[in-house]
Amino acid sequence: MQDATIPHPALLGIDLGTTNSLIAIWQGDRAQLIPNALGEVLTPSVVSLDDDDSILVGKAARARLTTHPERTVAAFKRFIGTEKKFELGGRQFSPEELSALLLGSLKQDAEDWLGHPVSEAVIGVPAYFSDEQRKRTLFAAELAGLSVSRLINEPTAAAMAYGLHEQKFERTLIFDLGGGTFDVTVLEYALPLIEVHASTGDNFLGGEDFSAALLQTCLQDWQIPLQQISGQSLARLSDTVEQVKRELMHGPQQLSWNHAGRQYEWTLDESRALKIWEPLLARLRAPIEQALRDARLNPQDLDSLVLVGGATRMSVVQQMAATLFGRLPYRHLDPDIIVALGAATQAACKARDGAIEELILTDVCPYTLGISTQRGADISGAFSPIIERNTVIPTSRVQRFYTTHPHQTKIRIAVYQGERPWVRDNILIDIFDIPVSPSEETQALDVRFSYDINGLLEVDVNLLTSGERHHHCIDRSPTGLDEQSRQDSHNRLAALKIHPRDALPNRTLLARLERAWMQSLGEKRERIADWLDTFTAALSGLQSKEIASLQSQINEALDHLRL
Ligand code: AMP
Repeated sequence: MQDATIPHPALLGIDLGTTNSLIAIWQGDRAQLIPNALGEVLTPSVVSLDDDDSILVGKAARARLTTHPERTVAAFKRFIGTEKKFELGGRQFSPEELSALLLGSLKQDAEDWLGHPVSEAVIGVPAYFSDEQRKRTLFAAELAGLSVSRLINEPTAAAMAYGLHEQKFERTLIFDLGGGTFDVTVLEYALPLIEVHASTGDNFLGGEDFSAALLQTCLQDWQIPLQQISGQSLARLSDTVEQVKRELMHGPQQLSWNHAGRQYEWTLDESRALKIWEPLLARLRAPIEQALRDARLNPQDLDSLVLVGGATRMSVVQQMAATLFGRLPYRHLDPDIIVALGAATQAACKARDGAIEELILTDVCPYTLGISTQRGADISGAFSPIIERNTVIPTSRVQRFYTTHPHQTKIRIAVYQGERPWVRDNILIDIFDIPVSPSEETQALDVRFSYDINGLLEVDVNLLTSGERHHHCIDRSPTGLDEQSRQDSHNRLAALKIHPRDALPNRTLLARLERAWMQSLGEKRERIADWLDTFTAALSGLQSKEIASLQSQINEALDHLRL
């Protein structure tokens, strides 16, 4: 239960991870993690539609990835900002609706623990998240009934958490490899100032890609085409591959998989893994080099290197970082929890909690923002930057442009983000027309971009001849959500049945037993079937005290079997 020192109303810090999510709150003089209904601080970012059509979130849902893959979805954060839809038992969900279900569950955990409602949060997002991805994250929070007082870049949140613990750092590189994204941030501590100099990354590179590469290689070795494998069988193999990836640092790993009546074996040692992962490890280098270049630093200028994100537990990643920087990385804070702690620290600064020394954070815009223009007489589609990447935010920058013809009656402003000279290779953020009074000559216009600390952009256009001014707030991209689809999402989620929380520990154990049964054979399987029967019978008869004791005995036995 909560400590009386938590300020009310409380501002949560949330790490909405690809694989796991966490909530934290500033309590007394430090950030503290809040446990979920199972008493655990990591909530798997997995959503499942239970057999009675109620929504399950977290550990029980993760167990159902193996037993009910067609009703369960994980790693949806990777698709935020895209039009991808996930199907769960015949119902369609967008990535932000799934994120909202996850956020709603975290919010509920926080409220149960605090004993009062919460409605505000600081949420971590990958530094390299685009404008649209940030807006969709805000929308997911809105769907979950949370107002977001700040979106904080994940590596910056990590820097804040480290800033409080380790005051001796100066120039630091934060290497953040999560399940689905890779962020590199170079910053400098001059406490209480934390100044971000550069942030780069890859939104489509993370620990999940390392697992996918292993899975693909073993199927190739066995010469089994992916299409021939059922959803359940594939989920079982993915589970085993994940275990192999995690255990690899302890020595060569043996993988076995039962498929179509045959037992398949596969062995992986570190040198083979290095070969399989070489293309992915190579992709980690480019953002690091770019961040250092933008910060005008060499690797030897750094005082420290901090690893964040679950995938930095892989020894090959640690070795690669150590070789690249010629030093051992610093990782004494648990990479899984540091973003949530940092977000809660930022929340406390935001709420001006007296117990926290005022940390002043300056962040950057990680990508270049500009508009489409004509280059020379007839080459259109050139990208003209207005805010260059790694400019300190909030920022407001202006550039002068000219209409292309006299007598022009409108100007089309197409806003893009990216690092390529032609807009066709960059990401379209918004497009809108501005009326102009026709004139005998071409006209000059000043285009001002204002970018705030949450990574949201506003555009002002000032026509110099007429003095006309136009203000444009970018609230969605041309492919973004309109009012109707937003309302549809609200309605869809409101109609869903959420699994009762007090039944979650039992439901989670049942899901775990079903998965364990599926993963085992022979005598082990019989033992699990016995536990399943005993526990099911207990649920329909025994007192809650006896159920709780059975629950912990069976969970312990499963832990022992590593299932
Ligand atoms: P995050 O999004 O920060 O929770 O990172 C999750 C990613 O870290 C997933 O791809 C996991 O497979 C990976 N991961 C977590 N623990 C380990 C471990 N011990 N060894 C290898 N990868 C891990």
